[in-house]
Amino acid sequence: MKLGNLVLDRWIEGDGDGKPLASAVDGETVANITSAGLDFGAMLEHARSVGGTNLRQLTFHERGEMLKALAKYLMDRKSEFYGLSTRTGATRADSWIDIDGGISTLFVFSSKGRREMPNDHIYLDGPPEPLSRNGTFVGQHIYTSKLGAAVHINAFNFPVWGMLEKLAPTLLAGVPAIVKPASSTAYLTELVVRAIIESEILPAGSLQLICGGVGDLFDHLNCQDTIAFTGSKSTAEMLQQHPRVIAESVAFTAETDSLNASILGPDAVSGTPEFDLYVNEVVREMTVKAGQKCTAIRRVIAPSAIAADLVRALSEKLGEVRIGDPGSKEVDMGALASQGQRSEVRERVDELASEAAIVHGGSDDFDVVDADAKRGAFFMPTLLHCEKPLGAAAVHSVEAFGPVSTVLPYDNLDEAIELARLGEGSLAGSVVTNDNAVARELILGTAAYHGRMLVINRHCAAESTGHGSPLPHLVHGGPGRAGGGEEMGGVRGVKHYMQRTAIQGSPETLSVIGNRWIRGADQRESETHPFRKTFEQIAIGDTLVTESREVTLEDINHFADFTGDTFYAHTDEDAAKKNPFFEGRVAHGYLIVSFAAGLFVDPDFGPVLANYGIDDLRFLTPLNYGDSMRVRLACKQKTLRGDSGYGEVRWDTEVTNQDGEIVAQYDVLTMVATDAHWASVQ
Ligand code: NAP
Repeated sequence: MKLGNLVLDRWIEGDGDGKPLASAVDGETVANITSAGLDFGAMLEHARSVGGTNLRQLTFHERGEMLKALAKYLMDRKSEFYGLSTRTGATRADSWIDIDGGISTLFVFSSKGRREMPNDHIYLDGPPEPLSRNGTFVGQHIYTSKLGAAVHINAFNFPVWGMLEKLAPTLLAGVPAIVKPASSTAYLTELVVRAIIESEILPAGSLQLICGGVGDLFDHLNCQDTIAFTGSKSTAEMLQQHPRVIAESVAFTAETDSLNASILGPDAVSGTPEFDLYVNEVVREMTVKAGQKCTAIRRVIAPSAIAADLVRALSEKLGEVRIGDPGSKEVDMGALASQGQRSEVRERVDELASEAAIVHGGSDDFDVVDADAKRGAFFMPTLLHCEKPLGAAAVHSVEAFGPVSTVLPYDNLDEAIELARLGEGSLAGSVVTNDNAVARELILGTAAYHGRMLVINRHCAAESTGHGSPLPHLVHGGPGRAGGGEEMGGVRGVKHYMQRTAIQGSPETLSVIGNRWIRGADQRESETHPFRKTFEQIAIGDTLVTESREVTLEDINHFADFTGDTFYAHTDEDAAKKNPFFEGRVAHGYLIVSFAAGLFVDPDFGPVLANYGIDDLRFLTPLNYGDSMRVRLACKQKTLRGDSGYGEVRWDTEVTNQDGEIVAQYDVLTMVATDAHWASVQ
């Protein structure tokens, strides 16, 4: 069977017989792979003209809904994926990370898109920037979808998650993807892509698949395209130097190798919960996915005084790991992805052994459960111990992409920091200590060399997601050797596929462009109170200016008694005068906010369903008793919540005193019924 390539929305086979892909477990051919003869230029053009155009019709919320529907669909079909995943060498637990982990990434990005991004096509980056004295000229940074394709080149170790973690932010950004999985496990990616296409959830042109080499694809890239690469540092460097990538300044994100470190704190001696947690974490990181994780712990940095105990405990636990057929319930660790990987890991261990002693594993003679040790790509968990790690080189630079780690002892925290930095940039690091001062010192000393760091102690261990698990909410990527890229991290990951542009103009123009009212833009007052309007009837810029109300000393006394807030600035004239900000007793800030609501609400039953909060509240000028206040409320932003029957309306609110000075400003957040909902409840 030849794997399909998804080209211009059609499945086609590459020319020739292709290269056979062997099962990691028994060496049998699973499929053949070839992309020879594909028109790579046409694929890019199709993505841009059809996929991009279709996706950009949708708002962030609609794209979020699409991701959710896709996630649900894939969940229903996941047993098919699990079946095939075993052939990559993955145990059920490994497949769970790859398959369920990948699908959950779709869910998380769906939710982030609908909650943290507008129901719109433009994403506003920060508040407007005032650029002129009279406020008639302002600036605003915006993000819009790039008009190109995202080319995803993925590693072999997570054929499902590796695709979905990139696809989710890409599609949310409104950008089509061309996915090129690593050849050795591409059959699983292909199966999932077939399911995605059968779901008919994605618009035409949004996803294409290359099983095999990328041919002359790079020669057709332009400045609107983005490359997201995962794999080895050497391949990343080569692709980054492609003349077209350089000439067109094609955005390039790389996730590459890492000699990730985990540091055990000096407090975590044998017998403490942290010591046991550390042993479990290291063993888990070495054996999950047979150590084929870019985030796995490769360097075990531990206090010299504890090193011997640690080596003993790790060796004992590694000795309990049952290796064999990943489909068997008796097995804890499956195979490496291919025989080629096994030879590669063996060579790397030999290099490490020039500087470190093998203290566990390293042998080809070990028991394999329910499988043929010669035909499958099995490798024994291997622990090394380097007694003089500061002068060593290989232990900090040679990545054995398998169940291999090296213990590196340190004498003081400065040494531990130096050792961690010798990895020259990592995706993930961890610190295991119950001493928070030690945790701070180690994080301060090493964070600049890491994309993500985890601090584990007895208080968070039970719920910790672990050293090696990238999460869609947090950034994945790291400096230096790790590739210098950054993926995921919630909405941050979506922005990689969008262009940030600074827009300058009048407040009204920028309000219309961004669908968010800016101070200085038109304020439209009307006979109808804005709280009497449905979501559809309210327009951005709709404004209410209230009557004025005097704030008396009785009001302040009453508020103090009623709420119990008898802070001296509101109750003690002499004390208040000593305060550099006040001339005497002043109104409570919350009194001002409460009185403001009393001024602007329309009390009768109406389309406004609830007030759900206040954002960015600032008190700018004190309100003395005898002063008066009025409120200006302007509709700033509207966000329709799908089919819920309501939308969120944000009101820019300004309280001024009798001299027009701004007393307070904030955003009032309300939920307002849609026409349909309002009609149904009347
Ligand atoms: P690799 O050889 O660099 O392959 C990675 C990807 O690049 C594969 O899809 C591969 O396709 C493709 N590729 C190779 N040469 C190419 C070319 N000339 N043009 C276009 N694409 C090309 O890496 P690997 O050795 O298979 O993967 C293991 C490495 O990946 C490890 O070092 C590991 O640390 C790293 N990794 C990093 C992460 C991360 O998130 N940072 C995750 C997983 C793995 P073919 O398979 O078809 O050659």
